[in-house]
Amino acid sequence: MHEFKRLLRDAAGALGLSLTEAMCERFFLYYRLLIEWNEKFNLTSLVEPRDVAIKHFIDSLTCLLVHSPAYGARVVDIGTGAGFPGLPVKIARGDLHFTLIESTGKKVAFLRHVAGALGMAYMDLACGRAEVLARHDRYRASFDLALARAVAPLPVLLEYALPFLKMGGHFIALKGPAVQEELPASSNALNVLGGNLKVVKTIFLPLTGDERKLVLIEKTEPTPEKFPRRPGIPQRRPL
Ligand code: SAM
Repeated sequence: MHEFKRLLRDAAGALGLSLTEAMCERFFLYYRLLIEWNEKFNLTSLVEPRDVAIKHFIDSLTCLLVHSPAYGARVVDIGTGAGFPGLPVKIARGDLHFTLIESTGKKVAFLRHVAGALGMAYMDLACGRAEVLARHDRYRASFDLALARAVAPLPVLLEYALPFLKMGGHFIALKGPAVQEELPASSNALNVLGGNLKVVKTIFLPLTGDERKLVLIEKTEPTPEKFPRRPGIPQRRPL
């Protein structure tokens, strides 16, 4: 446990992020639950403490390096899976009001268990497709920040994410180096959906040196009502 917490704190420190002892304890409990549930459900292929600490937890936190949401901001994580990047960000920024969206019921059951075990406040878990939930009044155009990691190519992700954002809200896609090829293909989606590419920030993960690209997009125009299209259409026919 001490080794895990030291690793996390040192890696966060190398990126200029600081984690308290209480946050590190929550990360360790999350790690234990992830490994325990992973024996029954397929939640992650990474199980070694160092891999989970760096490639899941620290990787998730990198989004805070490209944009720091205001105190109490509303944040949605689309296709969160076992909670990435949303849950690590929520551990580091307890003030944020989070909605985690995931279409697979067993993953949502896991997230409910973790959120309960960690005693998380301001945590909403929504089981369903982004294309459907983005049409609910409760969610549409109501978030300051949207996040997504490893869910879909950028043009598809834009159709999932931009309808959730308020005007002036931001979307961060946590990507690898291959996003360079997705960017030119995203200009039509940005135009149609009301987004503006602000920056692509390159990060190297501590210890592993893995390269990451954080794509920051601002919503500058309202998204037309007809988006997102029906479930599966954004993926099959990207804008
Ligand atoms: N974001 C997590 C991560 O980085 O570890 C999970 C990545 S996993 C490869 C993609 C997840 O997105 C899956 O759990 C899948 O069920 C979910 N997903 C894919 N498309 C979705 C959609 N349209 N709406 C909601 N969830 C979706």
